[in-house]
Amino acid sequence: MKAMQVVLPGRPLVAAELPVPRPGPGELLVKVRACGVCRTDLHIADGELTRGKLPVVPGHEVVGSVVEAGPGAGRYPAGTRIGVPWLGGACGACAYCTAGRENLCDAPRFTGCDVDGGYAQFMVADERYCFALPAEYSDAEAAPLLCAGLIGYRSLVMAGEARRLGIYGFGAAAHIVAQVARHQGHSVFAFTRPGDAEGQRFALELGAAWAGDSTLAPPGPLDAAIIFAPAGALVVTALRAVVKGGVVVCAGIHMSDIPAFPYDLLWGERVIRSVANLTRADGEAFLALAPRVPVKTTVETFPLAAANEALARLRAGRVRGAAVLVP
Ligand SMILES: [Zn+2]
Ligand SMILES: [Zn+2]
Repeated sequence: MKAMQVVLPGRPLVAAELPVPRPGPGELLVKVRACGVCRTDLHIADGELTRGKLPVVPGHEVVGSVVEAGPGAGRYPAGTRIGVPWLGGACGACAYCTAGRENLCDAPRFTGCDVDGGYAQFMVADERYCFALPAEYSDAEAAPLLCAGLIGYRSLVMAGEARRLGIYGFGAAAHIVAQVARHQGHSVFAFTRPGDAEGQRFALELGAAWAGDSTLAPPGPLDAAIIFAPAGALVVTALRAVVKGGVVVCAGIHMSDIPAFPYDLLWGERVIRSVANLTRADGEAFLALAPRVPVKTTVETFPLAAANEALARLRAGRVRGAAVLVP
């Protein structure tokens, strides 16, 4: 099968011909129909995320169809369309797993990081961590729901009852979260890279009440903020923008260092927190909610062989909505 691999972090992905993997116990062989390109893939390709195996086939927003079940697997019949997310497995035994917090598992297996993912024609996945997908979405449209949507949704829940919600970084996750937030009655204030007029227009089209440069203060104080951009300086910017008791949620897996800031900015019971990974409960809740909003995903598709181009576009902030590879 054809696949794109991270071989040397910091270098472009390498096209490879690999044997089609065989499903082990509890696993499914999945034919990849679409795979979203997530900022985490960029962190893996760039060597900013050092856990995981090498070489690795990245990709953890996989929409595929079941080809074959391994021994003991039988949750999804052959031909079923399923989604494979970032959480590819958890130990089930650690203190986090037993408390329903498998997103924090001490020994997780992340798709496209610890095990090969969806930048390929086929992959295998533990069926217990796969999701059924809403029929309303095409393969490419469903792909970004599986990480951008899921992590975005978890971040939105962590932001709490914010009437006025700031979103810093208006990429794949933000374009989904903005729609859910608006549906739930939040007013969305979207912050983009300075001068990104096209990104600001896109945010307004998706129902943001205001959109502007991340260097600007919002027109009024925010109740909470979610940061999707990997820039630590935005934590300080967002703290300045939120009211007393406000929450700043850092949604990315990697961020540049957060600059020192005066304690006054945190005082008043303001909170900074990160959001890590997802639970299967998050996935089920979000995938049931998305078609009811309804969330419309905007995607730009690329052939598998153009994975490097898709990553470069994401790095440069030149993707409208989400980039999706179609093998
Ligand atoms: Zn665990
Ligand atoms: Zn992701």
